[in-house]
Amino acid sequence: MTNQQLIEKLVSEKILQTPRIINAFKAIDRKDFVLPEDQNMAYEDRPFSIGFGATISQPTTVAIMLEKLFAEMDKPVKLRNRVSRILEIGTGSGYMTALLAEIVGNPQHPNMGVGARKGKVFSIEYVPELKGLAEFNLMKYNLVGNIALFAGDGKIGLKAYGPFDKIISSASGKEIPKAWKEQLKAGGRIVAPLGDNLVILDKLSKRKFKEEKIPGFVFVPLQ
Ligand code: SAH
Repeated sequence: MTNQQLIEKLVSEKILQTPRIINAFKAIDRKDFVLPEDQNMAYEDRPFSIGFGATISQPTTVAIMLEKLFAEMDKPVKLRNRVSRILEIGTGSGYMTALLAEIVGNPQHPNMGVGARKGKVFSIEYVPELKGLAEFNLMKYNLVGNIALFAGDGKIGLKAYGPFDKIISSASGKEIPKAWKEQLKAGGRIVAPLGDNLVILDKLSKRKFKEEKIPGFVFVPLQ
């Protein structure tokens, strides 16, 4: 299986739908983010261990999360939807980080709109060695200007760099941390696992939130 075949599978299953997200999957090769011993299986639709109890997420899960995070993006958008600042919790291999940076930071992308190229991903990882792994993996891509990596506890967010337009987590906790809700802009969206559900939380106004849950996922626990 090739990266192109993996994308074709996700498109035929209607999991991948949005052109800009599909283009990001084309630009970012999953092989660059799995461990050397798994590279011959890199395009299989399954997670792989990356050490320290972490996994590179399953492509289907990554695709669903990104489609939810950027839903409506290719339709005529209101200014607030011109995403520029993203907070990611659980950098892991850096695969999702690279996809996010490609989506919000690639100036060549059509429909991008002026200003969108400033898009930046702030990603925080609990395990310092994994932050190092992500750094190494991401060096293969010209996205350094669009990515900032941090080691630490993502539950407290990154207040100094917010507020954020979108927040995405790859690790599953018992609740959505208050800090994330506070550091999200009104009109913004959080996509995060909660137990075995994927939660999509929209911040309608300062104190008003709307929640949608999709069941049936498996995620690495939030430390
Ligand atoms: N998107 C990553 C998924 C990695 S698995 C990828 O596809 O490679 C989830 C990651 O969340 C793990 O690397 C784990 O170490 C990290 N993590 C768990 N709890 C965390 C916390 N409190 N803050 C930041 N990262 C955390």
